[in-house]
Amino acid sequence: MSEGEIDYKYMVQVKDGKSIRISDASKRELRDLGMMDDKGKLKIKGLSAKMLSRMKKEYVECPVLMRDVNFIECYVCSNFISRIKGQVYCKGEPLATA
Ligand code: SF4
Repeated sequence: MSEGEIDYKYMVQVKDGKSIRISDASKRELRDLGMMDDKGKLKIKGLSAKMLSRMKKEYVECPVLMRDVNFIECYVCSNFISRIKGQVYCKGEPLATA
């Protein structure tokens, strides 16, 4: 499927109100990307602390992992293409880490 320039398999609705724990694998990835410090505090360039704290309470029902995933984890996922109007455009490829 594609919409304009975007090649995606799933369009996933971003929901809020549930703070899903970020997996250890994603935390490692966030640290490697310099988006999380050693204390586990998120630091994502261009995003204010207020935006980050809002994002942390958002989640998606991931069609690949078949579970709820914190939006931060989705944001750094290799399948993440873009977020437009509350929808995540997802490549939908199989993921090695759960
Ligand atoms: S981008 Fe990753 S975490 Fe987000 S919905 Fe797609 S597979 Fe799931």
